[in-house]
Amino acid sequence: MSVRTRFAPSPTGFLHVGGLRTALYNYLLARQQSGTYILRVEDTDRERFVPGAVESLLRMFERVNLLPDEGPRLVDGIVEQFGDVGPYVQSERLPIYAEHARRLLDAGAAYVCFCSSERLDGLRKQQEIAKLSTKYDRHCLGLSGEEVLRRLAGGESHVLRLRVPEGKTSFDDVIRGNITIDNSEVDDQVLIKSDGFPTYHMAVVVDDHLMKITHVIRGEEWISSTPKHVILYRLFGWDAPLFAHLPLLLNADKSKLSKRQGDVAVEDYLAKGYLPEALVNFVALLGFNPKGDQEIYTMEELISLFDLSKVNVSGAVFDQAKLNWMNGQYVMKKTAAELVVLVRPFLDTAGKTVDAALLQKICAIEKTRMERLTDIVEIVDAYVSMPAFDSAILVWKKADAADSRANLVGVRDHLSTVDESIWNEIAMVETSIKGYIEAKGLSNGNVLWPTRVALSGRAASPGPFELAWALGKDETMRRLESAITRLA
Ligand code: GLU
Repeated sequence: MSVRTRFAPSPTGFLHVGGLRTALYNYLLARQQSGTYILRVEDTDRERFVPGAVESLLRMFERVNLLPDEGPRLVDGIVEQFGDVGPYVQSERLPIYAEHARRLLDAGAAYVCFCSSERLDGLRKQQEIAKLSTKYDRHCLGLSGEEVLRRLAGGESHVLRLRVPEGKTSFDDVIRGNITIDNSEVDDQVLIKSDGFPTYHMAVVVDDHLMKITHVIRGEEWISSTPKHVILYRLFGWDAPLFAHLPLLLNADKSKLSKRQGDVAVEDYLAKGYLPEALVNFVALLGFNPKGDQEIYTMEELISLFDLSKVNVSGAVFDQAKLNWMNGQYVMKKTAAELVVLVRPFLDTAGKTVDAALLQKICAIEKTRMERLTDIVEIVDAYVSMPAFDSAILVWKKADAADSRANLVGVRDHLSTVDESIWNEIAMVETSIKGYIEAKGLSNGNVLWPTRVALSGRAASPGPFELAWALGKDETMRRLESAITRLA
């Protein structure tokens, strides 16, 4: 049987980083097993419906390059569905749920309930006071067939409830092992709501079965719902898929990852200058690391090394510092030309214009110092105009102001005589200045420190040859001159 996995988000308007991990794990398993990865939109909670949410979700999946084999996709900005077992949007499947609800009703596995929300609220309060588990008391289970028909005919508001059978329910979670619970702990779950829409529990079971899902990989928060699902599979006479519940994502203080302590939406991370591929690599390791100490994995490696049974049971800390480091690794691997394209939108947003050739040089020499794409916004300032700085930093720790000044004068005089073509390549600038140092019998530190600071205005920056190359001859000479004046 070919592997079929699915990611089944409720379209709330944004993609949670935990959702990204769930989607990724489903994708990895499907790819590894030459299976199929499905995206299904679970939009049966009409109160939480957000217009445009599906489109924004799909745009995110395009950006992180996790497109489903089956399910909705954007074609010219319009949602279209691909695959043979659709529709893949639950609100378009209402007749399917109604038909399956009818089957359960006819088999006596479900019953109609007319209880008002006031009655249910009162019941819950009583149970809470009595410290009992809050469950429906089966008030409507005893209604006669005639009464149910009469009240339905009268148009009375009602729901359909699962009639949980007696006994025990057990399933093997791929990550957590066997889980068995007594059915007396399971509530008579609502399957069809008064608005005619199915609940999540009803829809998820019907859809996973009809879409031939083999592995249900989802967040730990759904584990307590799984016995209900297993009961439904049994009542329908279907085989249940395999279940794997992924560990929670935690803040550094081990609380559940929440908006209050930082960003949780993938779009927020992209807007803050993280690269989609770095974010994907980072979330892949939240709860799983195939090789222990290796941190950077290509998608191909993740696909071949992925192993659901090795996913950790305990929560995974979302380590912001590690994400920054990892993003820096990915930034470093980009070519300068690629970075120009990637950083330009951030400069535009900040209202900064930088000449394309200069920007490419800045990217080339600064990329090892960048963690996020947004870092560029501050970095360019020192190239576009000389930053304000304290003249004291021009002086090397092993020299004094007079020595630094004399060396700047020497470099200036040397560079004013050389052919301008040396500015075409970093290596040529380097050869020229190093040749001068050697010919004069000077020490590198005495010359290169003040030269670097004169060109950058910063205590820490790329090296003097890189800076001279990026700035070009005119700006190099201007900055050297200005530093010489400052040390006078
Ligand atoms: N719609 C559920 C969610 O929003 C899906 C849970 C599942 O994968 O079964 O997370």
